[in-house]
Amino acid sequence: MQLTQEHEELKRTVERFVENELNPHVDEWEEAGIFPAHEVFKKLGDLGLLGLTKPEAYGGAGLDYSYSVVMAEALGNTRCGGVPMAIGVQTDMATPALARFGSDELRAEFLAPAIAGDQVVCVGVSEPGAGSDVAAIRTTARKDGGDYVLNGGKLWITSGTQADWMCCLANTSEGSPHKNKSLIVVPMKTRGVTVERKLRKIGMNSSDTAQIHFDDVRVPQRHLIGQEGLGFMYQMLQFQEERLWGAANALKGLDIAVRETIDYARSRKAFGKAVIDNQVVHFTLAELQTEIEALRALVYRATALYVGGQDVTQLASMAKLKAGRLTREVADKCLQYWGGMGFTWENPVSRLYRDGRLASIGGGTDEVMLGIICKLMGILPRA
Ligand SMILES: Cc1cc2nc3c(=O)[nH]c(=O)nc-3n(C[C@H](O)[C@H](O)[C@H](O)COP(=O)(O)OP(=O)(O)OC[C@H]3O[C@@H](n4cnc5c(N)ncnc54)[C@H](O)[C@@H]3O)c2cc1C
Repeated sequence: MQLTQEHEELKRTVERFVENELNPHVDEWEEAGIFPAHEVFKKLGDLGLLGLTKPEAYGGAGLDYSYSVVMAEALGNTRCGGVPMAIGVQTDMATPALARFGSDELRAEFLAPAIAGDQVVCVGVSEPGAGSDVAAIRTTARKDGGDYVLNGGKLWITSGTQADWMCCLANTSEGSPHKNKSLIVVPMKTRGVTVERKLRKIGMNSSDTAQIHFDDVRVPQRHLIGQEGLGFMYQMLQFQEERLWGAANALKGLDIAVRETIDYARSRKAFGKAVIDNQVVHFTLAELQTEIEALRALVYRATALYVGGQDVTQLASMAKLKAGRLTREVADKCLQYWGGMGFTWENPVSRLYRDGRLASIGGGTDEVMLGIICKLMGILPRA
C-alpha cells in the first residue's frame, strides 16, 4: 500500500483528533465505563471521518478502503482500546452492508445520520448461545402484515446502551442456516427492545457492552438490508473489513508499548545498570518491533490487494490472527519489563494487556481465523 499525500493528511487529521478530543478524556471515560459516543461521533462526523469509504450521496467521501486502514492505524494512538473499537463498529462493522446493499430510502434514513455523527450504530450478530458459530443464532424475524416481528436477543453488543439503531442478523425463515438469515435495521427505541444489562469487563472499559432483548419488536419490512436470505453472506463480507480494520488498529498501540517500555527500561536501574542494558531486554524489544513491522506489512499488503478488487479473506484472517497473538505477546513481555509498575492499574502497558486481550476473541476468535485459513489452504478435514 503506497501512502499518498491524501493519506498523510488524513493521518494527521486523525492524530490531531486523538490528541485533542480523545486522549485528554480517556481516563475519565475508562473510570465511568462508558464514553459519550453521540458527542464524540458528532465531532468526527463534522470532520468527515465517519464516512471515508461511504457513497458521497449519503455524506461519505467515496474513497477506497486504504483510507479506512490509515484511519484505523492512526486511531491506535488513543490511550485505550475501547473508544477506537466503538468508532470502528460505527464505520467498518455495522454500516458496510447497509452502504453496499441497502435501498436508497434505507440509506437516506439510517446511513446518512450515521456518517454525519447524528446517530450511533451497533452491530448485533452474537447471542448468548452463538458467537463463533454465527449460523447457530436463534433470533427470529417473522413477517406479519408489512412488518418483521423480532424475538430473541443479542449479547456483547458494543455501544449497545447508547446506540440509535442496530444492524441485526436474524433468521427470517426455516431451512439451511446459511441461507435463512437477513440483516435488518432495528431502531433501538422501538417498543420491545430492552437493554437487559451493561456487562462488566476486564478491559475496553470506556466502551459500553450490552445484552439486548427483543420481545415482539415490530419494524417495517423495508428495514431489510438487501435481499432476504443473504444476511449470512453480507455479514461474512462485513467481517472481512472488520478484520482488516482491527489488525490495522492494533499497530500503533503496539509501537507505543514498545517505545514507552524502552524509555522506562532505560531510566530504571537494577544491579548498577539500566534495565535495558541487559541483552535479553533489548533483544526482546527489537524482536517485538520486528514482529510489529511484519504485521504492518501484512495489513498493508492485504489492503492493497483488497483495494485492487481481490478477495482477501485469507490474508485478512491471517492479519487478524497475527494482531491478536502479537498484542498478547507485546503486552505481556513489555509489562514484565515494567516490574511492579506494570502491575498497576494506571500503567499504559497494563491497559494494553487488558484491552488487547479482546483482539483474540472479538470479531472472530483466533481459532475461527485458523479454521478459515485452513479451509482456504485446503487442509481443513471435511465434516
Ligand atoms: C468486548 C466485546 C465486544 C463485542 N462486541 C460485539 C458486537 O458489537 N457485536 C457482536 O455481534 N458481537 C460482539 N462481541 C462478541 C464476539 O464477537 C464473540 O465473543 C466472539 O465471536 C466469540 O464468540 P463466543 O464468545 O460465543 O465464543 P464461543 O463461540 O463460545 O467460543 C469459545 C471458545 O471456544 C473455542 N472455539 C470455538 N470454536 C472453535 C473451533 N472451531 N475450533 C477450536 N476452538 C474453538 C475458542 O477458543 C473460543 O474462544 C463482542 C465481544 C466482546 C467480549
